[in-house]
This record gives sequence, structure tokens and C-alpha cells, in this order.
Amino acid sequence: MGRDGTERVEDGRGGAEAAATRERTLTPRQERPARGTRERLADTQQGMRRRNLSRVMHAVAAQGTLSRAAVASRIGLTRAAVSTLVDELIRAGLLDELGPERPGRVGRPGSALAVSARGPAGIGAEIGVDHLAVCAVDLRGEVRARAVRRVGNRGRTPRPVLADLAALIRDVAGEAELEGLRPAGLAVAVPGLVVRDTHTVVRAPNLDWHDADLGALLPSELPLTVDNEANFGALAELWLGGAAPADFLHVSAEIGIGAALVVDGQLLRGSRGFAGELGHVPVWPEGPPCACGGRGCLEQYAGEEAVLRAAGLAPGADRVGLLAERALAGDAKTRAALRGAGTALGVALTGAVNLLDPRAVVLGGALSRLSPWLLPSLEGELGRRIAGPGCEVVVSGIGSDGPLLGAAHAVVRAVLDDPAGVA
Ligand SMILES: [Zn+2]
Repeated sequence: MGRDGTERVEDGRGGAEAAATRERTLTPRQERPARGTRERLADTQQGMRRRNLSRVMHAVAAQGTLSRAAVASRIGLTRAAVSTLVDELIRAGLLDELGPERPGRVGRPGSALAVSARGPAGIGAEIGVDHLAVCAVDLRGEVRARAVRRVGNRGRTPRPVLADLAALIRDVAGEAELEGLRPAGLAVAVPGLVVRDTHTVVRAPNLDWHDADLGALLPSELPLTVDNEANFGALAELWLGGAAPADFLHVSAEIGIGAALVVDGQLLRGSRGFAGELGHVPVWPEGPPCACGGRGCLEQYAGEEAVLRAAGLAPGADRVGLLAERALAGDAKTRAALRGAGTALGVALTGAVNLLDPRAVVLGGALSRLSPWLLPSLEGELGRRIAGPGCEVVVSGIGSDGPLLGAAHAVVRAVLDDPAGVA
């Protein structure tokens, strides 16, 4: 979604060219009138202007502050061209001019630009099995407002859950507006399968939701994106993680276990959007039944509830903290439970690594916190089983906020990728 604006222009042109080729070789197309050279030129110029506005925004966002001259040299345009673009972005409230960069040098050419701390903001939301969370992130990437509500959502139908979420969204959006921000879009992370490019959750086993259209139940005034939490978690790692390579398999766990594959800096979503269901890869075909309808899924061995059960602990608040605390204190049963989870993860990941050959496996969410006790058996199992040379296993530094931050940043990235779309 982040690159929609730019890609739409390029795709549109590519599509028109492809259609022209088909027209010559196949049957005439009725629905699209032939476009004149002048119209196409206008499209090209408009597309180029939008791409250049995006390049200016990204250049400034990457550096924090940057002069017009520095922007020009970074993106390879003339100072005059950059000044026109910058003026447009300042008028739209997306860039701020901070004044002279160095004392003694006054005037526009030397003044620093920064991405506006007011203006558009991304609203990210997360539906968890036992919580709801919403945050607002400004174009500089800072979280400006945030709200979390602990609530057991398992067994609740979508309507009341989304009514609660909508109330939190209104609170956070209101708080952001008081700070001069303008919500530019809403992205919602859900623990289930979302049909690609739609708002429909076809299946969320841990919530027991089927074919729920979240678009019909959420505030309609903001552009909406709905995606699997693991996808947003992987995007957070890609955008905010710092150490992530451009190709990696991100694995995270809360109640369920999710994974997402990033290839060359892009999510691999699968044909319908359902890629990454590592939690439901069978580890033992005749193992315990799973909420997905299968048996012996990874989630039955390495999901939070399975690990708590194996450790002899009751489910409650801060379950991951409890596991970490017990393991740190040397509790043998907890350590054995985590060792078993690491082994199951290693078995399931062997299949994924053999099939997909990622540069690294990144452990996120609860897995990162429990990694000291999961890693030895996980890496041992993976190392023994994979066909190629070893695959690096990296622990994420983002923690359990990944999906929420990834969602909010997806909206922010969409604005940076096509600033003309909100200007
Ligand atoms: Zn399953």
C-alpha cells in the first residue's frame, strides 16, 4: 500500500501500453478510449511531479533536517526544481522551514527543512485476542497519542469488538487533532487471514471470526487498510528495525504464531493474501487438534498457551513476562517448555527456510523476549535439518508493539510515497 501512489501511475501507463498491444493483436477494447499524445504527456509529467514530491519527502524524512541544496544533491535535481517542489510541500503543511541552518547565513537556500510535526498522521490499530490498541504516528515517525484497552475478545462477535475499537480510535484521533495533527488514514492489524486488498477477515481462529467485513463496522471518514498482524509486524521490522536485511522471514508470537516473508523490501503476500501461516504448519501430523481445524500445528507446541501449559502455569495477565521471569529464575519446567517450543519452531522453520531461502529469520513479538531460552534448541534444530548452509536467526528489538507501529507507519509511508495524495 505504501507505494500505491507512485505505482498506480506507472502501472496505469504500463497497463495502457499492454492494452494497446492487445488491441493490435487481439480484439478491439471498447471500454477505454484511445488516449492522445498530449494526454499521455500530461500523465507522465503529473506522474513525475508526484514521484519527485515523494523523493523530496523521503530525503528529508531520512535525515531529520536537510537544506534545499542538500535535497537537490541527494535526489539529483536542480536547486530550482527542488525549490518549486519544496514550496508546494510547505504550502501543503508537509514540510517546515526551520530558518537559517548556520548562524550568520540568512536566506532561503541555507535554511533547514524538516518534515512537519503537525499535518497528516497515521492511525494504527491492533485487534488482539485480549487487547485493543490504537496509536497515532506523525510524519516524523513519532508516536503522538496512544491508547490500550485490556479486553478478552475471544468469543465476542466482530460488531462489539469494533465498536470498542472505534471508540479508542476516536479518542486517539481526537488527541492527535489537539496537537495539530490530521489523521490521514487508518490501518488495522488483525490476528487472522485477510483477503488481499480488502477489509474482509475470512478466518481468525483465535477470535472465532469468519468472513467479517471490518470496513462496514469502522469509522468511514478515513481511508482504511486491514491486514494480518504478522504482515504489519514484519513491515515494522523492515522500516524501524534497523538491522533487518532486505530479505527475511519474520516470525512473531502472541496467542498465535504468525510469520511474514519480506523479499527485496516487499511483503510476499501470496495469491489471496494468506501467506505466512507458519503457526498452522504441522509439526506432528497426529498431534493435538488446533483451532484452524488441523492437528499438530506449530501453535500447539510453541503458541503462548501451549508453552504455559507445558510449564504448568495458568493463563493470566502478562503471560510472557511470567514465562521470562520463571525461566530467568532457573525454573526447570519453564525452561523445558521453552526448549520444546524452540524445537518445534526449528522444525517448522526448516520447511520455510528450505522452501524460501531467506537471508535471515527474525524473531519478533513475544518470541524476542523469550529468545534466550528458545534460541539454543531452535538454532540447533534448524542447523541440523536445513539443506543449505546455516540461516542466521536475529532477535528483533521492537518488542510486542510491532504490529501496531507497522500499521501506523504504513499510513505514514503512504503519505511519504504520494504526498500529493493528501496535499
Ligand atoms: Zn492450526
